[in-house]
Amino acid sequence: MSDRINVTRSSMPELDEYVEEIKDLWQTRWLTNMGTKHVQLQQKLQEYLEVASVELFTNGHMALELTLQAMDLQGEVITTPFTFASTTHAIIRNGLEPVFCDINDKDYTIDVSKIEDLITERTCAILPVHVYGNVCDVEEIERIAGQYHLKVLYDAAHAFGVRYKGKTVGQFGDASCFSFHATKVFHTIEGGACCYQDPVLGKILYQLKNFGIRDEDTVEGVGANAKMNEFCAAMGICNLKHADENREKRRKVVERYREQLEGVEGLQLNRNRKEVYSNYAYFPVIIDETKFGADRNEVKEALARQNIGVRKYFYPLTNTFECFHGKFNVDDTPTAKKISQRVLTLPLYADLDFHDVDRICKAVIQCRR
Ligand SMILES: *Cc1c(COP(=O)(O)O)cnc(C)c1O
Repeated sequence: MSDRINVTRSSMPELDEYVEEIKDLWQTRWLTNMGTKHVQLQQKLQEYLEVASVELFTNGHMALELTLQAMDLQGEVITTPFTFASTTHAIIRNGLEPVFCDINDKDYTIDVSKIEDLITERTCAILPVHVYGNVCDVEEIERIAGQYHLKVLYDAAHAFGVRYKGKTVGQFGDASCFSFHATKVFHTIEGGACCYQDPVLGKILYQLKNFGIRDEDTVEGVGANAKMNEFCAAMGICNLKHADENREKRRKVVERYREQLEGVEGLQLNRNRKEVYSNYAYFPVIIDETKFGADRNEVKEALARQNIGVRKYFYPLTNTFECFHGKFNVDDTPTAKKISQRVLTLPLYADLDFHDVDRICKAVIQCRR
C-alpha cells in the first residue's frame, strides 16, 4: 500500500524557530491576555494584510460570531449555504435569521444577481463567503449594501493573503473575518482575526473577547472569552515569515494539478475571477457524472482505497443541517445544491510533492468509465 496522502497537512516553522520565539515567555510568565506576542502579531498582520485595524481571537468562528454581535443587528442576514457550519451558526447564535442566497457556478461565491430579490424590510446585513479563496463580487455587493443601507461582513476564512485589483480582501465591506485554524493557509494552531473599518467597532470587539470588561472597575458588556494566547500568537509570528514562500509552493502544486486535470471531460476546475491574486488555498474539482462516468462519491471511495484522503467540502449545505430540520428549503439554492453534490477538494498543502500530485491525478482519471 502506498503512503497515505491526507487532504491537508499543517505548515509549521522549524522547531528551533518556534522555540526561539517562545523562549522569553519563560521569563515574563505572561501567557495570555494580550501580551507582547499578541500585540506583535496584530501589528504584523496589519502590515501584511494592509489594513488599519486587526483584532485577534481564539478562532475564526468567535471572530465571526462576536463581530456580528458587535454590529448590534436585528432581523435577517443574507448569506449562502455553501460554507462551513460556522458562518450560519454565527448568524443564528446571535438571534438573527439567515436568508439563503444561491451561489454562482463559476467560483461558488454568492450569486449577486439574486441578492436584491431577497432583501426585505427586516434585512440588516449581507454575510458572503470568499469560498476557496475566490473573491466575491465585492463591487456589486458594495453597491447593493450602499443602496439598501446594509452592513457587509465577509467570511474570509479561506482568503488569507488574497488580493483583488491590488487590494487585500480585508479592505472590503465593514469587516472581514479570517480563520487561523491549523488547516488554513496561514495558521496560529487555533486562531482568527477580524479586520474592520470603524474604530468604534474595534473597541466593542476588544471588550467582547474579554468578558465585556472596560477597565478594572467597569464591566460594560456581556462579553465572551475569545482571546488569542501567547503560544498561538508566537506560532503566527513564525508562520507569517513563511507565508509568501508557502504560497509559492502551493501555486506550483496547483499548476501541477492543472497540467493533468485541465480539459478532462466531466471535471470542472476552480476558476478565479479576473484580477484575483490567489492564495491557492484549496483545489476543488466539480465532477459531472454524466460526462465523467463516475460520480463524486465513487471517486472519493476509489481514492480512499488508494490511501488518498479527499474532502466533500462543502457538503452538506448548511441549509440542510439536521439541527435546522424543516426550517429551510434546499431547492431555494439549486446551484449550491448541485455543486455540493459534485464537489471534491483534492489534497493541497505547501509540501505536497509532485509525485503525490501525479499519483492523485492518475487515481482520479482511472475512475472514468
Ligand atoms: C474554517 C472556517 C471557519 C471557522 O474558523 P475556525 O477558526 O475553525 O473557527 C469559518 N468559515 C469558513 C468558511 C471556514 O472555512
